[in-house]
Amino acid sequence: MKINRAILTNNLCYIEGRKHIPAGVMVHSTAVPGVMAKSFISSWNTAKPGGSEVCVHAFLDNTGVYQTLPFDMVGWHSGGGALGSANYRGYIGFEICEPRDLADKQYFNAVKNLAVQFVAHLCKTYGILPEKPAVISHKEGHQLGIASNHEDIDHWWPKYHNYTMDKFRAEVKALILGSDSEEDDMKEVIYNTLDEVPAYAKPTILKLISKGYLNGDGKGNYALTLDMIRVFVIHDRIGLYDK
Ligand SMILES: [Zn+2]
Repeated sequence: MKINRAILTNNLCYIEGRKHIPAGVMVHSTAVPGVMAKSFISSWNTAKPGGSEVCVHAFLDNTGVYQTLPFDMVGWHSGGGALGSANYRGYIGFEICEPRDLADKQYFNAVKNLAVQFVAHLCKTYGILPEKPAVISHKEGHQLGIASNHEDIDHWWPKYHNYTMDKFRAEVKALILGSDSEEDDMKEVIYNTLDEVPAYAKPTILKLISKGYLNGDGKGNYALTLDMIRVFVIHDRIGLYDK
């Protein structure tokens, strides 16, 4: 997956630089038809774009994906106040640029397919399940009480292209499953209980459990993969869990 880097280093959100552990993805669209990613990247690389405290992790249009914040940094995309917001619950938020004509099928297909690939990539990288409530639109976030009252992306995808977030999640899931079976026909080892976790990672996993960051199924089963365990240990060494 090619991701172009265009980090918004002058934006207050980046300057504040609060870290999070990615746990979900929120899909937005800009509600500014005809304005493409490069324009947003230049107009948002300022402290408060248009006077607002806003920043997203990426913009996407029919020319590609442009990463505008590190994915392990809190973004300001869901509104809805401070701690009740998806912003502070690990959601990576990205904006899809809208075509001048929302009924433009060719543009829709191009950006929708790119968004499927991008979200599948994020889900695989961060161990995010491509299901509700981990992968949602801004509107669904509002319905769940973790985002401001915006319509995106329902004013576009379902309305003009009969394409729902459920269809989107199904495509993301299919892509993840398909690519897994191509890359790896060995069955992945799952570490369910604390006893099964490799010794070097036990202090980290214990810390995550005791801080309430890792809950599993509530019965002591955590369904960890080795990749997840490795990332947790690295984050722990960085000190992310000691705040
Ligand atoms: Zn939005």
